[in-house]
Amino acid sequence: MVDGRVGVVLESIIARSPGEPEFHQAVIEVVGTLGPVLAQHPEYLEQRIIERICEPERQVLFRVVWQDDRGGVQVNRGMRVQFNSALGPYKGGLRFHPSVNLGIIKFLGFEQTFKNALTGLGLGGGKGGSDFDPKGRSDAEVMRFCQAFMTELFRHIGPHTDVPAGDIGVGGREIGFLFGQYKRLANAYDSGVLTGKGVGWGGSLGRTEATGFGAVFFLSHLLASRKRTLDGITATVSGSGNVATYAVAKLEELGARVVAVSDSSGTVHDPKGIDLALLRQVKEVERARISEYAERRTGSTFLRGARPWSIPCDVALPCATQNELDEQDAKTLIANGCLAVVEGANMPSTAGAIALLQQARVAFGPAKAANAGGVATSGLEMQQNASRERWTFEQTVGRLAGIMQDIHQTCEATADEYGAPGDLLLGANIAGFRQVADAMLAHGVV
Ligand code: NDP
Repeated sequence: MVDGRVGVVLESIIARSPGEPEFHQAVIEVVGTLGPVLAQHPEYLEQRIIERICEPERQVLFRVVWQDDRGGVQVNRGMRVQFNSALGPYKGGLRFHPSVNLGIIKFLGFEQTFKNALTGLGLGGGKGGSDFDPKGRSDAEVMRFCQAFMTELFRHIGPHTDVPAGDIGVGGREIGFLFGQYKRLANAYDSGVLTGKGVGWGGSLGRTEATGFGAVFFLSHLLASRKRTLDGITATVSGSGNVATYAVAKLEELGARVVAVSDSSGTVHDPKGIDLALLRQVKEVERARISEYAERRTGSTFLRGARPWSIPCDVALPCATQNELDEQDAKTLIANGCLAVVEGANMPSTAGAIALLQQARVAFGPAKAANAGGVATSGLEMQQNASRERWTFEQTVGRLAGIMQDIHQTCEATADEYGAPGDLLLGANIAGFRQVADAMLAHGVV
């Protein structure tokens, strides 16, 4: 619920960022749940914390020019939004995808600010990327693009300033090329300037798996509060990239059967349960389309152009992109008896879908809590870089599991405190907001 004063503030924020629907959606979602905390703490409105928290501290837009394999000149746009540094250096991924624009990067940076607060690791919020499409590009082209991108970005980042990582279209290969160029330009081996590095040169064991694993840890706590476990349940997962793959891995390890994964071309339905080794071979090794999986796996089918949500499941994990689960999908999930929806991707559910799921009492794990395991483990990577230590896989994943449990507890406790038991969206938003807002108040008018 948005009261009159907050409504006016919201309108002004939206009016000054025209043509950025995803950013508006993210702001409305967060601010729309803050009513109870604003009523309790009038200083947040008096000190104009909402306006300040919705305005990025800095936005950098730059040209990225590079040469393709035929010698042709390619021009892309790069950007970095340094959203909020109240709790620590800006931290958040880089996305390389043709759909990238400033509004999308702003929504991601805004969400990141509260998500990072929830980890408790002292991280500010930021996000960046480019409209460059790595699909179909050779390794040499990706390298030249990454080098051109970093040639501008390097002057804006640093281990104590801004620490980018991966996101859609940016995985280990891209982080390697970006780090190599940063090192060359900065003339310093600043391990902590990027996370998601290779484990042989400053990366953390467990970072690759962290977002998917973390989302499943969150899901298991969500189910436990309803006296259920993952053992024997059926899951559908969208996407087949980093987050999806390791969500599938952890779900299967904990006894669930994952019957669907997808990519932007369609969905694979595999009633026997996704064959993880084949999925990794097709997507990670061959960088092929998901239809290739169906061609090689007997008993599975490829549903061209479809999303996974019409396939009956006990739990659904959207792990691909924003707004990939809408009201119609929510109705289908509810009709099929779905118990829980946990967001591995950022803002994958539309506002209408969330409202329907909550009305139907489907347990809902919001992105900024459920997918915080990735950035949390990036924080652990930074700790290892700073202390020159190298933790085992078990140590890192053990810390991740503890952080996800704490985040779940914080969201539940905050929802209870503000009179909305079980509403983890409200709990996550208020808990994240309070941490950032209180630090901003302490820092004065800056
Ligand atoms: P990847 O690039 O590894 O994988 C993305 C997957 O989503 C691919 O299967 C891709 O299919 C699919 N996808 C991308 N865009 C679309 C679209 N417009 N429509 C349908 N499918 C699409 O990215 P990640 O797994 O890293 O990221 C997935 C989501 O998780 C994003 O929302 C990201 O912001 C979020 N996230 C990621 C974290 C991380 O640590 N990597 C941390 C926290 C959140 P295709 O190959 O066909 O494009």
